[in-house]
Amino acid sequence: METDRGYDDEHRIFLQGMMSHGILDFKSVFELLEAALGLCKIAIPDSRAERDKAIMKLVSEINDNIRELNLTIRKGVDEENGTNYFMLINTSQRGPVLSQLQTSLSAAELEYLRLLATEILLAEDRALPSNVALNLIGKMEGNTNKKFSLQDAEATISKLIANKWLRKLDRANVGIGVRFIGEMGDWITECLGGEVEKCKICRKMALRGIFCPCGVVYHKVCAMRLPAASDDKFNCMKCKAELTRSVEEEDEGSQIVSQAPARESNKSRKRRVISDSEED
Ligand SMILES: [Zn+2]
Ligand SMILES: [Zn+2]
Repeated sequence: METDRGYDDEHRIFLQGMMSHGILDFKSVFELLEAALGLCKIAIPDSRAERDKAIMKLVSEINDNIRELNLTIRKGVDEENGTNYFMLINTSQRGPVLSQLQTSLSAAELEYLRLLATEILLAEDRALPSNVALNLIGKMEGNTNKKFSLQDAEATISKLIANKWLRKLDRANVGIGVRFIGEMGDWITECLGGEVEKCKICRKMALRGIFCPCGVVYHKVCAMRLPAASDDKFNCMKCKAELTRSVEEEDEGSQIVSQAPARESNKSRKRRVISDSEED
């Protein structure tokens, strides 16, 4: 990577990898970089820092080249455990809701995802019990619910979780996934009436996290970076109130997530019901 090759085969190979996966965690991005450089007989940097730099440079050069296609490769962080991802995003805001998703989902699956995401966003803890999620098929519009069975719904939810559009929060609940936040940020904001809480530390959208009664919110992983008050407590940066933080098990699905921090402060959270929420 010493000489500047401009846009070349390593860029194309890397982009192809991103296109076929849509989203990759950092480890897989490293592997993709190794494969791309290896195929082009370019030396792979030894140190982690150099590899990070090489990835950022490659991604930035690719982004310059795909901008006019309304595509971009963007970093995203999983709100629950802080895992970093790279994802290919369609930046075009035209067209009907969710149609810009870089995905092979059918019209029925997209409609189902729209309903799921809306319900999750309007839930106080941004979590939806799976039985409620499955029952949403009855609300599908535009004839998309014809022949869309409970089995289809189950299979679709699994697929949406695998592709990071949704996230399995614990055995019984699903939430919004890192890819959905990355690609559908504007839609989420609109769905929530134009206002989305931002993490006090990283300033990024925080759908779930630790909500202080004073109105400030912290991603769980971001809160871990603050000095500890005692044990699992830390002080709110704004009002100094003592808040609880905890690191959750990485093991997906093995543990019921405590919703206590999110629930404590519901009264302080602004929530507007959007007009098309189809409340019965
Ligand atoms: Zn944060
Ligand atoms: Zn506070």
